[in-house]
Amino acid sequence: MTDGADDAVFDIAIIGGGAGGVLTAIHALRLARTPARIVLVEPSPVLAQGVAYATRHAEHLLNVPARGMSAFDDRPGDFVDFLAAGAAERDALAGRYAERRRYADYLRTRLEQARQASAATLRVVQDRAAGLGFADDGSIELELHGGASLRARGAVLAIGNTPRPLPARGAGALPASRLLAAWDYDAIKGIDHDADVCVVGSGLSMADALMSLADNGHRGELHVLSRHALLPMAHAATPDSADFDIEPLLAMGLRGRVRALRGHAHGGARNGLPWQAAMERLRPHGQALWQSLPSGEQRRFLRHVVRHWDVHRHRIAPQVHARIEGLRESGQLRVHRGRLRHVIAQGNCVRMGWQQRDGSLREFDVDVLVNATGVELRAQTMRNALLDGLLGHGHARPGPHGIGVDTAPDGRVLDAGGRAQPRLYALGSLRIGSLWESIAVPELRGQAEAAARALLGQGKE
Ligand SMILES: Cc1cc2nc3c(=O)[nH]c(=O)nc-3n(C[C@H](O)[C@H](O)[C@H](O)COP(=O)(O)OP(=O)(O)OC[C@H]3O[C@@H](n4cnc5c(N)ncnc54)[C@H](O)[C@@H]3O)c2cc1C
Repeated sequence: MTDGADDAVFDIAIIGGGAGGVLTAIHALRLARTPARIVLVEPSPVLAQGVAYATRHAEHLLNVPARGMSAFDDRPGDFVDFLAAGAAERDALAGRYAERRRYADYLRTRLEQARQASAATLRVVQDRAAGLGFADDGSIELELHGGASLRARGAVLAIGNTPRPLPARGAGALPASRLLAAWDYDAIKGIDHDADVCVVGSGLSMADALMSLADNGHRGELHVLSRHALLPMAHAATPDSADFDIEPLLAMGLRGRVRALRGHAHGGARNGLPWQAAMERLRPHGQALWQSLPSGEQRRFLRHVVRHWDVHRHRIAPQVHARIEGLRESGQLRVHRGRLRHVIAQGNCVRMGWQQRDGSLREFDVDVLVNATGVELRAQTMRNALLDGLLGHGHARPGPHGIGVDTAPDGRVLDAGGRAQPRLYALGSLRIGSLWESIAVPELRGQAEAAARALLGQGKE
């Protein structure tokens, strides 16, 4: 693999080398029956990390048991095989929550193996795609940030997640040592043990930050501030799925679905099933559930239900949950409900002002703020020059509700007029508006394989 661009035309350009881009490369290499030329463009020197798998720290676990993380639909046990030293370990490992850093190792290993066994070649270019246009013959021209350019017959946008800036007046003026991104895993690990820390946002990245602090033996006060004060729930000890019919749900409006789902959870409980079993039943139908909701109902979901959905759907390992509960019970961690309004450096502290539910403003001082407010969903706020150019030139249009980009059911990007670009695909978080359920590994690997197949001109076997 080499750095630098190339004059020849590639068959496939993969833009982004996080989990989604690497999965696409693995599938393209595996599927290729001819010496196809594949190029992967990624600014980071290390592939398969993105924001999720860049952590080097053992306390950051996958949010899904190992059995759910294979790169291949047709070999569901592949990640477990990678982790297991021998057959005796397999069963136990399948239900465990592996360290997230092991997942990046896994993808890089499978990429290298696919490369060695492939009829195709892979070139990795360490750069950022800054613009994408179309030549007269329909081929794709990619401009790279470093000034080079390359051409490809088809491309896959796998540009993933853009962290959201802290939504508070004054955030831009805080010293870097006082405002840390939750995804700056090493910086979180380096927080002084006696510092008073407030994590803003209460999703999965909040859990990561608290795990690092707890692992460090943190002694200072811990606060979590979020608009809903809802924290991720735990996976059940067993992977049971309830057994109810999905079809009636698809025909209901949002309110009916929420009521029916509660009923199924309670019904399951009477039969000894945890409430998580009802969510497990929905899991493979997430896209159908979203797409069968009328647009107005989707908007209501985004406004009123999404946070409740997230804490039930995006669950954490039971041991992570127990540790957070332990911090709460000991009084070291306090969870506040409110909206952060402003932050200002005050001597060695940060004064944060936040609005409580009753509208009153409350202020307190901490030593360090951690921004765990998540990712930008809207294409226009992703601050990605490539995306801005695609939208600006009408090569793409924002997805439903402005989320990501609009795509056809097969993953091709729709232009401003709603026509599918013949050979430009998107995957992962860019497709959330169209699919909702689009960022976890089972969806990523399916989308990656489908795009690779289509661009290599192969139908499903
Ligand atoms: C903290 C966290 C934990 C998660 N845990 C799990 C889990 O346990 N199980 C699960 O199934 N899912 C999990 N997910 C969801 C999902 O698997 C990850 O989000 C996954 O990393 C998404 O991969 P991606 O390639 O789509 O995006 P990203 O990981 O964001 O990668 C995108 C890549 O594109 C590159 N890029 C961006 N713009 C350009 C450009 N213009 N040119 C070239 N390259 C560009 C970036 O540098 C980056 O490397 C988790 C997500 C997060 C955030």
